[in-house]
Amino acid sequence: MLLMEGKPVVEAMRQGLKTRIEALKAKGVAPCLTVTLVGDDPSSHIYVNAKDKDAKELGIESRTYRFPATTTQADLETHIRKLSADPAVHGILVQSPLPKGLDEAAVVDLIDPRKDVDDFHPQNVGQLVLDRPGHRSCTPWGVIQVLRHYGISTAGKRAVVIGRSDIVGKPMANLLIHKGAFGDATVTVAHSRTANLPSVVREADIVVAAIGKAEFVKGSWLKPGAVVVDVGINRVDDPTSPKGYRVVGDVEFSTAKDVASAITPVPGCVGLMTRAILMSNTVDAAERLS
Ligand code: NAP
Repeated sequence: MLLMEGKPVVEAMRQGLKTRIEALKAKGVAPCLTVTLVGDDPSSHIYVNAKDKDAKELGIESRTYRFPATTTQADLETHIRKLSADPAVHGILVQSPLPKGLDEAAVVDLIDPRKDVDDFHPQNVGQLVLDRPGHRSCTPWGVIQVLRHYGISTAGKRAVVIGRSDIVGKPMANLLIHKGAFGDATVTVAHSRTANLPSVVREADIVVAAIGKAEFVKGSWLKPGAVVVDVGINRVDDPTSPKGYRVVGDVEFSTAKDVASAITPVPGCVGLMTRAILMSNTVDAAERLS
């Protein structure tokens, strides 16, 4: 069984990014990523701090804007309009989810699509579906980079993507059906209304699990030799851990590892890749805008 760790993939990417960032700086362009955080969701704060650290390590300017949960839609929209118009800003990310009462879609629509490093803007989603150049959704594109790094071919394979969210499942399925390398798969998208999910998963050469339910997919569901990419990030209580919890994926690793030919660990792969693609999208944006 091949353990597809994210660290070597990220390390390889970082070298290329550093060179590109130096080239931008030599032209007088300082790549700049902005993260807008509204409210006090503890998980969001952890993600935002991690993004800030990644950016600083690479030499990307990182600006974090923190707003209280009581922020109005109008104030948030004014802020996003300003960032979209600011020539010193290359990446705009609005941390999801926004507090209840704020219209996330309306906010995303105001992001200059060229600065939409999360690939949430409808124009960029369209570009991805049409397989035209542009930003790529951070998590799904990170999954493709993992498959590429570990030499896992997708052409002609049966892939099952479990989850149909706008940020993971849908773009993941679209990337896997694109023509060409690391596409050309025959894709099934499963969700909470899918009948007999274990039998659907059983047909897959490649399983991408993005459900949000701890250890939901069991090893017994898998076709022997399947490649398993676990996108899930779930906290489960663990009194033996100093934090009182541990992080597990959507796949039951202990049973899946004995059936799969390759599997990603949680934590240690897709989360790292998502962060790395965000940095890569920011550098792409700085190059295109300068
Ligand atoms: P989401 O928006 O909640 O979507 C979850 C999807 O799973 C939905 O399509 C849902 O179906 C489906 N689902 C729920 N219960 C199911 C069941 N019993 N059987 C089959 N499908 C089921 O979540 P998300 O944003 O896509 O995230 C999914 C997971 O990935 C979460 O654990 C999240 O934390 C993690 N994540 C990780 C990264 C990373 O960087 N590693 C990035 C993003 C997300 P319906 O559409 O029918 O409700």
